[in-house]
Amino acid sequence: MHRIVTVLETLGLLACALLLGQSFQAVGLQAGWAGVLCCGVALPIGYYCADLLSGLIHWVCDSFGDSHTPLWGPMLVAPFRRHHHAPGDITRISLSENLGSSAIAGAAVLWLWAPQALSAPGGVEMLFRFTGLWCIAFAVLSNRFHRWAHLPLARRARWMQQLQHWRILLRPQEHALHHRKPHRGNYCILSGWANPLCNRVPWARVEAGLARVGIRTNFD
Ligand SMILES: [Zn+2]
Ligand SMILES: [Zn+2]
Repeated sequence: MHRIVTVLETLGLLACALLLGQSFQAVGLQAGWAGVLCCGVALPIGYYCADLLSGLIHWVCDSFGDSHTPLWGPMLVAPFRRHHHAPGDITRISLSENLGSSAIAGAAVLWLWAPQALSAPGGVEMLFRFTGLWCIAFAVLSNRFHRWAHLPLARRARWMQQLQHWRILLRPQEHALHHRKPHRGNYCILSGWANPLCNRVPWARVEAGLARVGIRTNFD
C-alpha cells in the first residue's frame, strides 16, 4: 500500500511539473520579452498569494475534520495534526511524501483550469494568469519551505539560512510560534509574508459562525 502511495505521489509531482511548464509557456513566455516581464512582475504577487493560501489550508486542516475525513483527511488533515506532535519528522521524509499530496492537488487544479489550452492572453489577463500559475507552483512547494524551517542549523545550507534571514523563506523563529500550544497563529508556511494578515483574522468568530451552519471544529 505504501509503495502505491509513493508511486501516486511521484506521478503527481511529475504531472504537476509538466502542466506548470506547459502552462507558463502557453500563457505568455513564447510572447518574448513582454511575456517574460509580465511573468517576473507576477512572481512576488503569486508568492504572497501562495503563502496566504498555505495559511488558509493549514487553518482548515488544523481545525476541521480528522484523518478519516474522505479524500483530504489522510492526505492533508492527518499530516498537519501529526506534525504538531512530532515536528522533527518532516525533516526525515522523502520528497514525494513531503510534496506529493500538494502536487496531486496542484495537478488537478491545473488540469481543471487548463490555462495551456486557452489562447495566449494579453495585458492584465496575462498578469492574472501568471500570478495564478506562480501561486499554484509555490503552494505545491510550500511544505518544502516548511521543512527547511524545521531543519537543524547544522543541516541547513548557507543559502537557505541567508534567504531565511532575509525573510524570503519562512524563518524558523517565526514558524516556531505556531508550534506553541494551542497552535492558533502563524499558519503560513511558505515565506510567512502573509502571517501579519492571517493573524488579524478573528478565527474563533469565523469558527463560531461556521458552527452555526453545522461545520464544527475538531482540534486535537
Ligand atoms: Zn498547525
Ligand atoms: Zn511546522
